[in-house]
Amino acid sequence: MGHGWEGAVLRLLRARDFTLTVTRAERVGPDYVRLRVTDGGLLDASGILPTTWVRLWFRRNGRPHQRAYTLVDPDPASGTFSLDFALHAGTAADWARAARPGDTIEATVHGTPLTPPEQEPAHLLLIGDTAALPALNSLLDAYPGTPATVWLETRGPGDAELPVRVRPGRHTLLPVPRERAGARLVEEVRATLPAHLADPAGAWAWIACDTTTTRALAGHLRTLLPAPRRQVRAQGYWRP
Ligand SMILES: Cc1cc2nc3c(=O)[nH]c(=O)nc-3n(C[C@H](O)[C@H](O)[C@H](O)COP(=O)(O)OP(=O)(O)OC[C@H]3O[C@@H](n4cnc5c(N)ncnc54)[C@H](O)[C@@H]3O)c2cc1C
Repeated sequence: MGHGWEGAVLRLLRARDFTLTVTRAERVGPDYVRLRVTDGGLLDASGILPTTWVRLWFRRNGRPHQRAYTLVDPDPASGTFSLDFALHAGTAADWARAARPGDTIEATVHGTPLTPPEQEPAHLLLIGDTAALPALNSLLDAYPGTPATVWLETRGPGDAELPVRVRPGRHTLLPVPRERAGARLVEEVRATLPAHLADPAGAWAWIACDTTTTRALAGHLRTLLPAPRRQVRAQGYWRP
């Protein structure tokens, strides 16, 4: 598939394309689909760090559209990984909803994934919604012994069943229903954060919600942590 001008720019930046083939489609929740795919050689090229993501290329009305999705449980030995899709009305979500074994999708690897903190943090502060859950889980897997507080914005009762990889006794999960376009999450984090911030200098925060909510939360965290450039990572995952 041609990728239009975005694809041309990515090629100039030495991005590489791979064809992924769906081998299994699974409803993880009412609004959540997990697809297992063969990687077409992607894992050999991408490296695997927590939160690693790829651009997937979808077609709508004959035009290419790229969307970012996170690698879930990558297995270089078998050349497979999963992709988790939070479902809503959208080109990528619609494709995932209908995907069946044998379907293919093109993926581009580009850019460097998140740089993990140089030293193991004393406490992780992870804030995200269901689109960010795969990345959030990859951080919990990368630091299984590190105390963590997870604020997960949910969109409905079905999201309560989603697999959040918190370890009992180590990690605290605080689900927050999405209300008022993310404003409730901002309020809840502001209200509950002090109780989870015993050691501000040892904390490391990662935030990925919609762009507006992410900006508000990142601004707040940056006022609380002593070395915000090192201690706060934030990326808007979708535009409301
Ligand atoms: C680095 C990175 C990694 C990501 N990884 C994942 C991932 O692993 N799994 C995942 O599900 N998403 C992930 N996302 C988010 C995903 O790329 C966006 O949600 C994307 O916009 C979905 O595309 P779409 O074509 O379905 O909808 P779009 O055409 O982009 O949008 C259609 C409508 O849906 C709304 N919308 C878009 N996303 C959401 C959402 N998540 N919840 C509610 N409404 C939404 C938009 O506001 C718009 O009104 C990631 C984003 C980034 C930046």
